Amino acid sequence: MTQPTFATHEVFNQSPPFEDVDLFAVDRPLVEAVRANGGAAAERELSEFGRHWGSAAMADRGRLANENTPKLRSFDAKGNRRDQVEFHPAYHELMAHGAHAGVHNSTWTADGKPAGDGAEVIRAAKFYMAAQIETGHLCPITMTRASVGALAMQPDLLARVMPVLSTKSYDPSFAPWWGKRGMTLGMGMTEKQGGTDVRANMTRAVRDGDGYRITGHKWFMSAPMCDAFLVLAQAEGGLTCFFMPRFAPDGSVNTIQFQRLKDKLGNRSNASSEVEFVGAYAERVGEEGKGIRTIIQMVQLTRQDCAIASVGLMRSGLAHALHHARHRSVFQKHLADQPLMQAVLSDMALHVEASTALVMRLCCAFDRTPHDAAEAAYMRLLTPAIKYWICKSAPPFLFEAMECLGGNGYVEDGILARHYRESPVNAIWEGSGNVMCLDVLRALSREGEAAMAVLQALAAESKGLPGAGEAVSFIGKTFLRADGERVARLAVEKLALLAAAAALNGVSPRQAELFAATRLATNHAGMYGAVELDSADVRALLERALP
Ligand SMILES: Cc1cc2nc3c(=O)[nH]c(=O)nc-3n(C[C@H](O)[C@H](O)[C@H](O)COP(=O)(O)OP(=O)(O)OC[C@H]3O[C@@H](n4cnc5c(N)ncnc54)[C@H](O)[C@@H]3O)c2cc1C
Repeated sequence: MTQPTFATHEVFNQSPPFEDVDLFAVDRPLVEAVRANGGAAAERELSEFGRHWGSAAMADRGRLANENTPKLRSFDAKGNRRDQVEFHPAYHELMAHGAHAGVHNSTWTADGKPAGDGAEVIRAAKFYMAAQIETGHLCPITMTRASVGALAMQPDLLARVMPVLSTKSYDPSFAPWWGKRGMTLGMGMTEKQGGTDVRANMTRAVRDGDGYRITGHKWFMSAPMCDAFLVLAQAEGGLTCFFMPRFAPDGSVNTIQFQRLKDKLGNRSNASSEVEFVGAYAERVGEEGKGIRTIIQMVQLTRQDCAIASVGLMRSGLAHALHHARHRSVFQKHLADQPLMQAVLSDMALHVEASTALVMRLCCAFDRTPHDAAEAAYMRLLTPAIKYWICKSAPPFLFEAMECLGGNGYVEDGILARHYRESPVNAIWEGSGNVMCLDVLRALSREGEAAMAVLQALAAESKGLPGAGEAVSFIGKTFLRADGERVARLAVEKLALLAAAAALNGVSPRQAELFAATRLATNHAGMYGAVELDSADVRALLERALP
């Protein structure tokens, strides 16, 4: 298509849009990590997904869903309560495309058992690609997928829900879940007086026949148009998990009253509500008093997704930066051919490559957990460490990616400003940074022997890599210190780096060596590009990142 021209100048030396690409095929580190972790059989399916989500049409849906943010409709014209949130059609389309590809449920069989056979890895690759295009809608997608972990504690409820939850349909109608083509689930734990400390929850649950009536509030409850929520409330037997549907069993609208929607830094296509439960109907999930043990089954899975989404955001930042640098000339030379820009981009590519290998290795552990105790121990010890390191690395990474595009990176016409605003939330929700570190310490104190076996396995997998041996002994010693909490960040970051080097070694040994040399043998500088790699390695890293 010829563009209309300006009277005063011609537009040139701007990069073309990075659209209509196969997000899978152009990402060699992803292809190799999927292959190495049991997802090879799905390459064609992933390529199809990558082409679809990499299309200009999907990018446009992402933009529209963020520019036209959700609106709370508390009342109708006559003053009756409505408590509905309206979303732009583009948001619903993103949800429908995600559901069609099973991103919200494909790790489960139709009756709610772990699907196995690489299902976690395959779905993670989709989640990672979708995150490159639009991240807000992934909130209900991840919560729906993860809810099955908690619902499994109440088999009769799981059996009723799965026929609706396991379909590939997205049904946004405001109607009782049991009559719908598909359903989504959210989660309500955080109250004003405590988010991390859910034991401080004040919301109360009182038995009412077979169900319960819940009274209280939640300070954050995202994706409020979900068909049901897993919420925590204090019952007679203590803090308990409940399934709270939008409609009561008699078909009336449940008394879930939204107060307002949060005005957030990013994550704008997704609605996050403040809500009051006014004697709302709910069913118990798991035993009374076992609320944390029940909901943690869900939270473990959403933490995994926080890490996957953060790598997806960084991958998108890297791809846009590299694409731009290959088209933009400064001082008569493409940016991608300038040694200093190459140093920055290749160092960033190394970070993304290691992070991709690490999350895929983690997903492989989730796949194997039901049948393999060592993999279950890896999953328990490393999920919080990986969420900590990857999610906290995303905002500074995206800042650097944005800067590679110069001024264009900073404006809202491009996607990088949105990615940058989006990136901190994955570190904050589902357990903030310190809480993740404390969780690693908890896994160590509860299952010390299994955790040490994980460390030994990482030592074997990273054997010979620069700095790996020293890292193993540092982690071992630091975790044993009596004042472990004070130095937990030191040890947890080192653990994540070691696990990343080990995971990358299983995918691409040369890149693992570079990663270990720049992150384990020496402390990585505060800025990307402040490392010395030889030019053959730089070329290889950039070629792998984007052919
Ligand atoms: C956009 C968005 C959407 C959200 N959606 C939901 C939702 O759908 N459902 C839901 O239940 N919640 C939701 N949340 C809430 C989120 O999970 C909490 O904000 C988060 O868990 C932190 O809790 P808090 O805000 O109460 O902070 P606090 O618990 O007060 O923590 C504040 C800080 O203290 C640190 N800290 C806590 N304990 C310790 C300790 N012992 N030692 C050292 N440091 C510590 C934390 O790491 C954190 O950095 C959402 C949050 C956001 C931002």
